[in-house]
Amino acid sequence: MKWGLSCEETARRISESLDNELPWFQRILLKMHFLMCAACKESARQVLDLHHVFSQISHPAEQNESIHLSLAAKQRIVEELEKHK
Ligand SMILES: [Zn+2]
Repeated sequence: MKWGLSCEETARRISESLDNELPWFQRILLKMHFLMCAACKESARQVLDLHHVFSQISHPAEQNESIHLSLAAKQRIVEELEKHK
């Protein structure tokens, strides 16, 4: 029996969630997939971190402090990606 989302569907939902907040049942399906699939959980974390960084960069009217935070986050992502090489 097929239960929950495939990895492909999960990736699509993650990218959709960047533009629109997902309905609660979609979020539950995603969370259930993350419990079973460490790879998708990790890629979601990286995508959401990157999205956060990019949204900070595209709104430079923020205070200096938030720019520093986004740079630190970016550095963390780079380090994280290096680990997975
Ligand atoms: Zn998966």
